Formats: sequence, C-alpha cells, structure tokens
Amino acid sequence: MSDSESDDYLRLTLSPPGSRSQSETSSQTTSSTTTSNAPQRAAEDNAMALTMATSQYGGMASDLYAHQRVSGQVRKGGFSQSRRSVVAERPSSRGGAAAKEERIEAPYPWAAERRAAVQSLEALRAIGISRIWGEVTCKKCDGHQRVEVVLEEGFSKVSSFFLSNRDSMHDRAPMLWYSPRLLDCSLCQQADCVRPIVASKKRAINWLFLLLTQTLGLCTLEQLKYFCKHNRKHRTGAKDRVLYLTYAGLLKQLYPPGPYDP
Ligand SMILES: [Zn+2]
Repeated sequence: MSDSESDDYLRLTLSPPGSRSQSETSSQTTSSTTTSNAPQRAAEDNAMALTMATSQYGGMASDLYAHQRVSGQVRKGGFSQSRRSVVAERPSSRGGAAAKEERIEAPYPWAAERRAAVQSLEALRAIGISRIWGEVTCKKCDGHQRVEVVLEEGFSKVSSFFLSNRDSMHDRAPMLWYSPRLLDCSLCQQADCVRPIVASKKRAINWLFLLLTQTLGLCTLEQLKYFCKHNRKHRTGAKDRVLYLTYAGLLKQLYPPGPYDP
C-alpha cells in the first residue's frame, strides 16, 4: 500500500459514524495538502458518502449526536456550549504539568521520548516503520519469541472496532478488551495461549504492541493508571474504565485528529 493509498484508507476508516464536525475538518485539512487533484478528491468524497450512506450504524449515530447537541444547547442555553466546555476541561493547557514532563530515552523505535507515549502514524511512516514487534511467551509450550504486527492494518482494526462500538461501551472497556483472547502459537500450533510480555518496568511497556494485539487488558490496574497519569487523563475508577481511556488515548496518539476523545 503506497503512502497516499493508505492515507485514503485511513481517512475512510476514520470517518466516524455520524460525521462529527471534528473529523470533517481534519479530513478537509488533509485533502487540501494533497492539492488540486479534483477527480481524486471527488472520488474520495464519493467513497466517503457511500460509506456513510451504506452504514446503517451511521444513520443511527447521527441521530444520536444530533440529539445530544440539541440537549446540550438547551441545558447550557447557548450555541455549541457543550462542545466548548469539553475542550475547556482538557487539562493539557496547564503549563506546570507540561513542564514537569521529562524526556526519556524511547524504549522502542516506535515509542516517543516521553513516558507512556508512542509516535503518530504520520511520524512512523516518515521514518519508514510499517511493522512493529513485541516479546511473547506461550503458556502451553513455554516458547518465547518475538511477534510482528503490521502497523496500519492493526491500527485500522482497533480504530474501527472502537468507533463502531463506542456508543455501547459507555466509557468502559468491553469484555473483548477486559479479558482478551491470547494469540495463537506458531511453535506448538495451539490457539489462544500466547501472552505478550508486559515489561515490569513501567516506562519500558510496549504500549503499541499491546494496543495492536488488543491485549492491553493484560496490564494491571496500576500499569494502566500509569499510562493515564502520563497522558493527563482522569485516572480513578475501575479497571474497565481506565482500560477504555488507555485504548482511546493510544489511538489518539497514533492519529491525533481522530475522534477518540472520551
Ligand atoms: Zn506454544
């Protein structure tokens, strides 16, 4: 898949059900950088419209969002108040907390130079990283090996699952994430028995591998809280809630314009 093709693919995958204004803006911004290629642009728009039109979920969701927007306005008594207040609650503008963030040596080529952070897909493409790996161990044969995951493919899968199920998650990780299925073993050929190794040192946790294999649920509550703490997310609560925030936070790190905000 070439870069521009995968861009298009991503854009389509990421066009959220219900076309929230945020993603429309971001896809327009992205399109404008690929400049005056009118036929291609029209084809993209068409494909996107088709996706929206054929998605039964899309219709339901846009009704839902419309309802939320209306009720938000009534409650707050003003235009777009609900959206603005969400933005205002984001604590990232607090200079003090940001200043305390110290640079660390990235534990993996795809990790960022700060705790509990991965580089964006765009940055990873730019440095030619299309596959990532993680250490795993098999419960059945005790085999230890390194498993590779294709980055874009894994991301699309997790992102699609998140976006199409978010409304029924109610800010809590579903069972599939909470109690994840393990990987299959290429050594002993048995299924559901290979466990990604979660580094005991928190700053060395391979967050991207756990995200792409949808095994973040193997982390302890303490490890997940560590992620949330360093990403300035509200981190009290039960494991399913903190796990949800970790999935959403990592998707957002990979694709910052994406609609992953809780
Ligand atoms: Zn095995």
